[in-house]
Formats: sequence, structure tokens, C-alpha cells
Amino acid sequence: MKNYKSIYLLTLISLLILLSACSDSTPTTGDTSEKTSEEKVQDNPNPTKEDEQNAENPKAKEGFVLPTEDLQKGDQNDNVIGLQEALIKIGYEIPTTGTYDKETVWAITDLQIQSEDLMITGKYDEATRLVIEDYQDQESTVTSGEGLAYSEDKPLDEETVELSNPFEVLALINKQHALPADYVPADLVFPDVPFPFVEDLPKKQIRQVAADALEELFAAAEQEGLDLYAQSGFRSFETQEYLFASYVSNHGEEEANKFSARPGESEHQSGLAMDVTSPQVNFDLVIEFGDTKEGKWLKDHAAEYGFIIRYPKGKEDITGYQYEPWHIRYVGVKTASEIMERDITLEEYLEELQS
Ligand SMILES: [Zn+2]
Repeated sequence: MKNYKSIYLLTLISLLILLSACSDSTPTTGDTSEKTSEEKVQDNPNPTKEDEQNAENPKAKEGFVLPTEDLQKGDQNDNVIGLQEALIKIGYEIPTTGTYDKETVWAITDLQIQSEDLMITGKYDEATRLVIEDYQDQESTVTSGEGLAYSEDKPLDEETVELSNPFEVLALINKQHALPADYVPADLVFPDVPFPFVEDLPKKQIRQVAADALEELFAAAEQEGLDLYAQSGFRSFETQEYLFASYVSNHGEEEANKFSARPGESEHQSGLAMDVTSPQVNFDLVIEFGDTKEGKWLKDHAAEYGFIIRYPKGKEDITGYQYEPWHIRYVGVKTASEIMERDITLEEYLEELQS
């Protein structure tokens, strides 16, 4: 019995080898170049049923396809619906509006906070897509709100609210929109750019996503032979409180608030802003920096790296601050390009998204 079995097995194996050898031995036509699998599929004149099934995205049948393009606050299209449906499927109770709205920003932020490897931006990118796909593949759900509970902005006084989502890269921080007093970004790093001092002071720090972009910006400036220096990035609520109090005692509150922010209202607390300068203005933060070759280049090229000149000339009524050619804020390339090209402010850009 045993012998019969092994003979049968051997015959079967040789048959299989023969078969596979046959299918490989297609006649060559002199073209020995390797073809990619994509080309092979296109070349296949008689696709089998199996080929057709493989070509289809199995997720499409389930009714939610994750978009492969980046999305962010204000985007309005079918891709956003696909994203919202996927987020609902993994446990977020958000509306399917087709607009990348506040709820979508919150869900993405919450997911990013919970996923250790993701940058926390509130924007949908490839890394975030892969994490959502993992949840889908494992058919598991997120503990919604574990990273950031959903809430509305909290009124602090008649004209100012406290941001419910201080993490998102497109957060508006100004005299009407304050950061929570206890907000300290979790991903502060020391960017590898020149500073006019050597000590590792806390103000050298900036959030990871902005640090990466800042390093690229400074590398490009150096390529142009420019002497750009970083001066001051992250500033805690407490430091701002101390600074503002000292300005108030010297200038009075109203005057001080034209050039310095009340605690919670400084972009420096967000870890997304950096003050930059150059030797030509003695490393000071002064309006004359805007007339230096570094200042001019910065205005023309900051957006290519995701930064805006946050307080432009002539926009004091909108931003609430005097012209500051040295203060750059990270918002990402897409938003920065639109703001700088159209010569508008972050206030105007975000206002338009809401209307
Ligand atoms: Zn500044």
C-alpha cells in the first residue's frame, strides 16, 4: 500500500513540474527584457475570471475606498466621503458631509494621537491611510476620543474661545482663539538649523512636522548663500505669561498687545512658529529684516516649504498684530502656497473654508 501511495505521489509531482515547465516555456521573440507585472497584465489577451477578480479592489465591494491623495480641512469631494465612511466603519461617529469638516479633523487627530508612529496634524496623508487600512484589515475599531475627546471650542471671555483641538496644523491661534493653558506639544524637537546662540534652550524647539520643513527651508537658503538664523520657536504658556506681564508693566496692556500676545494666544506655544533673523540686523527681530536679502528670499520661498509670513504688512486689522517679517508659521505647502500667492492671511483663508 505504502509503495503505491508514493508512486502515485511521485507521478503527481512530476506531472506538476512538467505542467509548470510548459507554461514557462513560451517562445521567445528576441525580446529578453524583463517586464513588470503591470505590463504582463496589460499584455494578457485573454484574462481569466481570476485575473478580473484580482483587478478589482475587494474593499470597493464593501462600499468604502480609502482615497490615496492627501486631504485636509476644507477639502470638498468624493474622496472625503470615502474617508468619512471609512472612519465611521472603524468607530467614529461623524457625519458623512463630503467636506473635511471639524468632525473629520477631530477624528483624524484622535486617530493620529492614538497611533504612536503618526505625525499629529489633523490632515489625512499616506501614513494615516495605512493605519486606517490596518484597522479595516483586522476588522477592529478605534476607541473613539481616547486621544482627544470631541468638544466645541470653549468661550473664555466675550471675544476669545479656547481651542478644542490645539494639535491640528491648521489651528487658528490669535486674539480670538487661544490655546489651552496646559497645552504643550508632545512632539517638540530641536531642528538642525543655525541659531545665534549655542545653548539648547527650550525656545530652540519646534514640532517635528515643522522641524522637518524648517530644515529644508534653511538648507535651501544656505544653497542661495544666505545667512538665515532661527531665533525663537516654542514658548510655554508660563513663559508667555511672564513675558507679557513684563511688557505690560513697561508699555501698558493695550500697547503691549500690539506686539506681544496674551498667554495662550501666542503661536509660539503651538510649536508651529519660528522667529528667524540674520546677521545683517544683528540677529534682532526687527521690521528691517524684511528689507534684507534673507527677509526678501524668505517671503518669496517660505511657502514652498509650508511656511507663511504670519503677520504681513497692511493686514494688522485682520491679524491683530503689527508687521512681523521674521515670524513664520508652519501650515503645510498646500495652504502656505495659497495664502502667500493670494497675499491673504491665515484668518482670511480659514474664514473662506467655513463659508
Ligand atoms: Zn514670533
